[in-house]
Amino acid sequence: MKIYNTLTKSKDSLEVGDDKRINFFVCGPTVYDLSHIGHARTYVSFDAFVKYLRLKGFDVFYLQNITDIDDKIIKRASEMGEKPSDLTKKFEEEYFKDMSLLKVDSVSKHARATDYIKEIISQVERLLENGFAYTIEDGIYYDISKFKDYGKLSRRTIEQAEDGTSRIDESVKKKNKGDFCLWKFSKEGEPKWESPWGDGRPGWHIEDTAIAESFFGAQYDIHGGARDLIFPHHEAEVAQMEAVSGKSPFVKYWMHTGFLTIEKEKMSKSLNNFVTIRDFIEKHSPRILRFLALKSHYRSPVDYNEKNIDQIYQELKKIDRFVGSLENQATQDNPSKKKETEETVVKYKEKIDETLQDDFNTPVAIASLFSFISEINPKIGASDKKTINEFLENIDKVFGFIIVPPEERLVEYLESSETGNQANTESHIRELAKMRETARNNGNFGEADDIRKKIEDKGYSIEDTKEGFKIKKI
Ligand code: AMP
Repeated sequence: MKIYNTLTKSKDSLEVGDDKRINFFVCGPTVYDLSHIGHARTYVSFDAFVKYLRLKGFDVFYLQNITDIDDKIIKRASEMGEKPSDLTKKFEEEYFKDMSLLKVDSVSKHARATDYIKEIISQVERLLENGFAYTIEDGIYYDISKFKDYGKLSRRTIEQAEDGTSRIDESVKKKNKGDFCLWKFSKEGEPKWESPWGDGRPGWHIEDTAIAESFFGAQYDIHGGARDLIFPHHEAEVAQMEAVSGKSPFVKYWMHTGFLTIEKEKMSKSLNNFVTIRDFIEKHSPRILRFLALKSHYRSPVDYNEKNIDQIYQELKKIDRFVGSLENQATQDNPSKKKETEETVVKYKEKIDETLQDDFNTPVAIASLFSFISEINPKIGASDKKTINEFLENIDKVFGFIIVPPEERLVEYLESSETGNQANTESHIRELAKMRETARNNGNFGEADDIRKKIEDKGYSIEDTKEGFKIKKI
């Protein structure tokens, strides 16, 4: 297995011990609002990646932190007139709901920052003892000039580090502009914890190294996040943990996902250009979002627009049509086809595996899935059906968008009954209306809207009443 490592800037072979254990950490959300589809892009990608590793026999411990204390949380809680801890509990629950809808269920442990204050204080103490940290009036800071390897992950020099704008701790008394806060002394009314230096709260970067150290020790295998985190967040993590332990590398492989963009700009809460996972799902479905995330390579940007989503509907319909047609295949065996089917399945199994081994190239693997669908001979026998189903079920353990219950399949309503007499047309419209109702009941609202439009294009309108739908000729 090869993965692109931000630290070495190359595709590296994934090397682990004989026990095949992989300690894996991904930066979790800051829980002060609903998650948006940019978060989904990152978390679906890592979920599928971990599931693939497990399928290959690796024993992955997937750890994710939850940032439940930081400036943005305090600000939002005060705007809402809520306690920060009530706000974060609420949005943490919403985050779990979203992830469950998206079938993101591979995380072994979610660790809240505020449950690790003791471990955070211990790291700050060690950094003060060995001279990497200093105290000024508003908190304890990390002195980046003391760490000779500072910048090795993001390839920035100390001077370039000072140009950083995102989530840099401002304080005029800092020794270097790029120094970051490890422990903030609390201001009036802010959440606080006792420490040897007075009441305060952790800086953003230290929570991840403290949590990771308590599960994995000073060094571990893979760390992930979206690319905005390379600097300053992950650079700071390297500086903290390597200075605390004296061991290098802190993490062997660093993986970073590309952004989900909207009109080519990063989707983010602070830019207020975001679509929540909740809204997206209401309009389309979790399946469409999971497919959107995996259709692009995890390192590439994903541009969100409704045209791309239309394309996804068409592609998923192809899958559904294939899976549906398998069900209607012969119940008898067809020995003459058996060998051919098995060979085709083995060929595509290998192809897909090869592409996933190569830096988890999901778009190429998905393209192979479509080639498989086109290539497989539809006139198959009962045992071929079983072979194909097993193959699809196995890759769907990673993808999670192939197999859905029959009532959730996207319907192929554009092709059938396009011609015919009046009676035929009306029965076709009735069929369409039923399909629309099913789509609505399953929460596939985009699909339902498409069908309504199709009905209107044919000169009929549809009205929803308490007794069900009514069809009228326009
Ligand atoms: P946050 O809640 O902002 O701390 O972000 C949680 C995770 O989602 C981090 O790994 C971010 O890098 C990632 N993330 C945030 N916005 C996007 C986006 N537009 N596209 C992809 N990943 C994102």
